[in-house]
Amino acid sequence: RVPVPALLQRPADAIARPQQASHPKIPLPCDLFAPDRRNSRGIEFGERTALDRLLADIRNETLDLKPVADATPDQADAAVAAVRAGFAAWSRTPAAARAASLEQAAHLLESRGAHFIALLQREGGKTLDDALSELREAADFCRYYAAQGRRLFGSETAMPGPTGESNVLGLRGRGVFVAISPWNFPLAIFLGQVTAALMAGNCVVAKPAEQTPRIAVEAVRLLHEAGIPADVLRLVTGDGRIGAVLTAQPDIAGVVFTGSTEVARAINRALAAKEGPIVPLIAETGGINAMIADATALPEQVADDVVTSAFRSAGQRCSALRLLFMQEDVADRIIEMIAGAAHELKIGDAGDVATHVGPVIDQEAKQRLDAHIARMKKEARLHFAGTAPEGCFVAPHIFELREAGQLTEEVFGPILHVVRYPAEEFGQVLAAIDRTGYGLTLGIHSRIDDTVEAIIDRVQVGNIYVNRNMIGAVVGVQPFGGNGLSGTGPKAGGPHYLARFATEQTVTINT
Ligand code: GLU
Repeated sequence: RVPVPALLQRPADAIARPQQASHPKIPLPCDLFAPDRRNSRGIEFGERTALDRLLADIRNETLDLKPVADATPDQADAAVAAVRAGFAAWSRTPAAARAASLEQAAHLLESRGAHFIALLQREGGKTLDDALSELREAADFCRYYAAQGRRLFGSETAMPGPTGESNVLGLRGRGVFVAISPWNFPLAIFLGQVTAALMAGNCVVAKPAEQTPRIAVEAVRLLHEAGIPADVLRLVTGDGRIGAVLTAQPDIAGVVFTGSTEVARAINRALAAKEGPIVPLIAETGGINAMIADATALPEQVADDVVTSAFRSAGQRCSALRLLFMQEDVADRIIEMIAGAAHELKIGDAGDVATHVGPVIDQEAKQRLDAHIARMKKEARLHFAGTAPEGCFVAPHIFELREAGQLTEEVFGPILHVVRYPAEEFGQVLAAIDRTGYGLTLGIHSRIDDTVEAIIDRVQVGNIYVNRNMIGAVVGVQPFGGNGLSGTGPKAGGPHYLARFATEQTVTINT
């Protein structure tokens, strides 16, 4: 079997990924389009590229798409009890052994890449581009947390102390973590949460989104195969009701959640209402993410980055751009260019390699987005509406708002809202961003260093991107997570993340 190319990504990401050099099994993105063989003059005579091979592998995959049954509340309770029993042994397993299982999981993922890509396309509606980067991200999470875990959990830290006393600080697992993950990254976020909790020495009960249980079933099978014991990791499928059963369990020691702010609040309330130990919540929620383009920005670059940030992945990323502020001098030019670029996007079947914008996750999501579009058509000025085929598709739209406050909630789809501002009212833009209450991602397009620095200084946003697009945080490069309504702050794929899953223990010995 041909190793799976890990990505169809922007060259910038490839440069930012030093770990690629040590994994020669993953070809560079340019290899995806390289012909099989060339003659001595460099003219191709092999007829197939790595992309052709990958597409053939994906087509040849047989998928088990039988519906996955929902767990009953009793099964959820039993899963917690089962992994509770596995905790003592797992928390004493050396960090190096836990890390080795995660590295093996990364290896298995890559060697079965075509299978997981096919699943991501069929169950998650992912385009090839998105499925490839998700596969890469999932493998990166496994390797990154393994490497961080060896460092953090592999030995204790000696602390200073008076003569005759030894002081050490160690990190250890908390107990049973409940991991509740979303449908928009059914492999990467699912595995990111689970592997972080496991690496920190916890046992895990994982509850995937009800829209994407099959990917989770296979990911858990893969982790078990990679060496994670069955009584250390269990899967519980179902909707929010089963999630609520898990978070109400008296025996859990932590919850990691990615999803809506509303559900994060409900989990927080449920945890707070429980008797017994205080249970921490690590939550990564949504955003009304903004981008600011001032008069010094390069319109071509703004247009390209806006289209990527607002419309790719059908806008179904919590990092996606929702609200673009443009200085009025350049607004018309930028809108025209964005609309022109959006017009070129192909909307359709995720399995078609030419597709830029695939389906939205389900009919319910489509109805919500269609209702928002209908409301915006009445309340805002429509600059662009793409055309989508029949089915679960939503075409990209661009609406101009009179003021940012007209957008009151996260709209999880390919709908961009733009607002123009006069230069002298720049302060109002920052105030409007503050007023959203969210703080996940922010884009800035400006060639004035002082402006960029002033914005960075002023806003409380977790991930800021300057003069580039604002999606696709790379593990170990752009640790990801936000503040305020966007979450409790821990950064997935960052050096401090694992510690948030652990307790700390100081031991002082009078020698
Ligand atoms: N980490 C992803 C990104 O940077 C977004 C994750 C999410 O949508 O939850 O685009």
